[in-house]
Amino acid sequence: MALDIVRIPVLSDNYVWLVHEATSGETMVVDPAVAGPVLAEAELRGWTITQIWNTHWHPDHTGGNAEIKAATGCTITGPAAEAGRIPTLDVQVKEGDAVRLGLVEAQVIDVPAHTAGHIAYHFATEHAAFVGDTLFAMGCGRLFEGTAEQMYLNMRKLEALGDDTAIYCAHEYTLSNGRFALTVESGNLPLIERVNEVTAMRERGEATVPTTIALERATNPFMRAASVEELAKRRAAKDAA
Ligand SMILES: [Zn+2]
Repeated sequence: MALDIVRIPVLSDNYVWLVHEATSGETMVVDPAVAGPVLAEAELRGWTITQIWNTHWHPDHTGGNAEIKAATGCTITGPAAEAGRIPTLDVQVKEGDAVRLGLVEAQVIDVPAHTAGHIAYHFATEHAAFVGDTLFAMGCGRLFEGTAEQMYLNMRKLEALGDDTAIYCAHEYTLSNGRFALTVESGNLPLIERVNEVTAMRERGEATVPTTIALERATNPFMRAASVEELAKRRAAKDAA
């Protein structure tokens, strides 16, 4: 792997990802909710932040943009469709665009639904994707600005990245998602096993992400929904839970 990826837990359940490409020395932050802990982690490692990549406009993904940019002079890349809601944006991207971190390139994928212009970043050569609030361990993002049909299509796009793709999501929602997933598929053995495992991990205070596409295909009720209608029903039930 050409990238060092560091998880920074902030706020109540957010994960900010610090990504370093050693050959070039470039360091990028995915979705900085806040600035302080991110700048501190980079400094601890002797890394200088050169870029921020945003997946969507929500404040718990962009709140640290301005302060990190002021401290480092970094370039901020994010969804073209949400440029109006991310005033700190320097570079606007959409599906089909590539974004470079030193020697490594990521492809931009449009995954609207949680927000209207939500994007994900896929490092194909690294088998890694940063998906913001679209796909979680055993869950998916709420449909604030989009439809179940869009989320269903997002699940198809993300599962097509391949089983060995590591999925870096932006929240520790795993246990709550797992408990809900069990109400949907009580007889799914890999799911039962995973919920037991993540329950123990959380009791030890451990993080449960990144996940992988293989794990999600086996245990995620939204990725496993057989139709748009089924996904919509499950999302509504989770929202009400
Ligand atoms: Zn969000």
